Amino acid sequence: MLEYSEHPSNFEKKDTIQGNGKSRFYGMDIISVKQFRRQDLNIIFDVARDMRNIVERDGSLDLLKGKVLANLFYEPSTRTSSSFAAAVQRLGGNIIQINNVTFSSVSKGEELRDTIRTMESYADAIVLRHPEQGSANIAAQVCQKPIINAGDGIGEHPTQALLDMFTIVEELGGLDGLTVTMLGDLRYGRTIHSLAKLLALYDVKLHFVAPDLLRAPSDLVADLVENGMKPCKHVELASVMPDTDVLYVTRVQRERFEDQSAYEEVKESYVVNNDTMNMAKNRMIVMHPLPRVDEISREVDHDPRAAYFRQMEYGMFVRMALLALVFGKV
Ligand code: ASP
Repeated sequence: MLEYSEHPSNFEKKDTIQGNGKSRFYGMDIISVKQFRRQDLNIIFDVARDMRNIVERDGSLDLLKGKVLANLFYEPSTRTSSSFAAAVQRLGGNIIQINNVTFSSVSKGEELRDTIRTMESYADAIVLRHPEQGSANIAAQVCQKPIINAGDGIGEHPTQALLDMFTIVEELGGLDGLTVTMLGDLRYGRTIHSLAKLLALYDVKLHFVAPDLLRAPSDLVADLVENGMKPCKHVELASVMPDTDVLYVTRVQRERFEDQSAYEEVKESYVVNNDTMNMAKNRMIVMHPLPRVDEISREVDHDPRAAYFRQMEYGMFVRMALLALVFGKV
C-alpha cells in the first residue's frame, strides 16, 4: 500500500480530485521512495514488462494520447530527461522540454514555485530536477498536477531507484537473499540514498564501501537500521567482492563539493577493472546510474556482468510504467 505520510495534503488532494475507481498511483506525486511498499514495486514491474513487450512488438502505443508531460531540469541530465521524453512519446503523449533553464524565465529571477505554476498551466504532469534537497516536495505543494522527482540535489532520485530495482530483478531473478555492495560517493549520491531505502524492503545484505569523506549520511543509516537493515561499512572493496551479487558503482559528485581540493583527494578512490571482476562471482552484475567518469574501466564494458548499459533501457520501461500508472491508464 502506498503511504504518503510525509506529504499527506498533496496526495489526498490529488486523489480526491481524480476520484475513485483508479489505481492508487493515479494523480500521485512521486517524491520519495518512502512512498513505496513491496507490492507497489511488483505492480510497477509487471507494467514495465508489459511496456517492454509492447515496445519490442510495436514501438509505441496511444495510451497517453492528448497528454502533455513537462520536463523541467535545473541540473544537467542525459538519461533521466531523455528517457522520460522517450517514455511519454512511446505512450503517444507529448513533451515540453526545458533542459536549460538559463533560456527560460528562471534566468530573469523567477522562483521555482512560479515556474511550476506556469508549467502546470500547460502540462498534465511535471518531471522536476533541481539542485536543492526538498525542492520536489515544495513543487508538489503548489502544484495540482503530479510532480515526479527526477533528483532533488543530494536528496533522492526515486525513479532511478525503481529502475535500479527492476534491473536487479530482471537480471538476477529477484531481490531476497542478495548481497549488494554500494561503492564510491555514498555521501552525495542521491541514487544511493533512494536505492538503499528501497532495498530495505527486502532481505538484502548491504555493504557500503567508501572513503571516510564520502560515507553515507547518518540519517540514511539511521533510517535503514530502523527498517531492519544494518549496512556494513568498509574502505576496501576487495574483501567484499567475492560475496557480492550486485556491485553498484557511483561517480564522485564533483558538483556537490564546496572545497575542490577535497574532491581532488577522493576522486580516484576506486577504479573497477578486470582485476576487480576476477574476484567476483560468475553470476553477479555491475551497475552504475551513469554518467561514468573513471570509476569503471572501459575494459569492463565487455564483461557480460556489466549491466550498466542494459540498466538504461530498463529505465525507459519503468518510466513508461510509472507514467501510465500516474495518468490512471493501467
Ligand atoms: N545521473 C545520476 C543522478 O542524476 C547519477 C550521477 O549524476 O552521478 O544522480
